[in-house]
Amino acid sequence: MTLAQGRTYLAIPGPSVVPDQVLNAMHATSTNIYEGALVEMMPALVADLKGLARTTGDVAIYIGNGHALWEASLANIVAPGDKVLVLVGGAFGQGWADTARTLGADIQVLEFANNAPIDVQAVEQALRADTAGEIRAVLAVHVDTSGAVRSDIAALGAMMAGLDHPALLMVDCIASLGCDRFEMDAWGVDVMIAASQKGLMMPPGLGLVFVSAKAKSAQKRLVNISPYWDWAPRIAPELFYQYFAGTAPVQHLLGLRAALDLIQDEGGVQAVWARHEKLANAIWAACDKWAENGALRLHVADPVHRSHSVTALYLQAPLATALREWCETKTGVTLGIGLGMAPPDDPEWHGYFRIGHMGHVNAHMVLGVLGVIDAGLKALDVKHGNGALAAASQVISTA
Ligand SMILES: *Cc1c(COP(=O)(O)O)cnc(C)c1O
Repeated sequence: MTLAQGRTYLAIPGPSVVPDQVLNAMHATSTNIYEGALVEMMPALVADLKGLARTTGDVAIYIGNGHALWEASLANIVAPGDKVLVLVGGAFGQGWADTARTLGADIQVLEFANNAPIDVQAVEQALRADTAGEIRAVLAVHVDTSGAVRSDIAALGAMMAGLDHPALLMVDCIASLGCDRFEMDAWGVDVMIAASQKGLMMPPGLGLVFVSAKAKSAQKRLVNISPYWDWAPRIAPELFYQYFAGTAPVQHLLGLRAALDLIQDEGGVQAVWARHEKLANAIWAACDKWAENGALRLHVADPVHRSHSVTALYLQAPLATALREWCETKTGVTLGIGLGMAPPDDPEWHGYFRIGHMGHVNAHMVLGVLGVIDAGLKALDVKHGNGALAAASQVISTA
């Protein structure tokens, strides 16, 4: 028997659930791209995006996913042969590092465990060792979605501000913008990238690169910048099409407007952060109970280092895969795979799963996911502690 009929729930860390308001806004035929409402909506859209990132800097909008933004951000700052320090604590830090290397950067990698945050002291040592000041940029991932670890970007930025080193701080917030607290200006971030399909509650397809004044002037030393990736015309277009280096993504812009309105209606980005934090706490309370004398454990031990948008769990192989399959076929809930924990042909690959709780997620969705995981553990005869759902509802009850 299956109980999956009804509305399904994709509880993976991106793409996330798209709200009906966003879908309805996107259900529109193409409009005039030379004048009228679409052109006129841009100043407010740009202002609201900057507010979300907590910056007075600029934003360039790209038609692309996260991989495009890794490239877009580097193309404006790093020339072949330039030195870049990449902080790698998971699959996404590794992806950005690989992109930089392929573009010809001379990369130095600092590796961290995929269940631990960036070690700011180790970064400080690497920058101090670069006495000639040749490192152009430090690349950091705020939330590496593979291990669900959140790093302390405020501490990283403060450390760099205290050093006499010219490196720019570039941060991947693809899994955290609109989920975890992030303060671009206050934390001293020069370039920040985000994509539409995670905390922004949109389909994949729009990418954002936020640029500080320092980064904007650093770009000017590059001799050749790919005209498509060049952020200058996108930031300050003389003609509307230059926002996107071509045809505007009409329907995506309408959807983004609706998503930003949802954030505003909720009470702004701080209310959104608070919701994500509360829901994450409910999830972890349940996980702590399951972990008692059981086969399941949270991948990141210290809650301070956990992201509020995604949770990674270990469940003895091959039970994690079995649980995912059970939840999808029996209940209509799709959980995330364990990414970057073990190679796909390694039996341990089947020992990890993730719960995505980013964007358009509320208490009943989280309680529903926890309920089906609890049922799955029982159906599969997995040893687990009792009281998970009661612990989660206790957290929700204090909202
Ligand atoms: C999802 C994600 C990416 C990659 O985004 P794509 O759209 O899949 O290219 C990059 N970085 C982080 C932190 C992510 O979560």
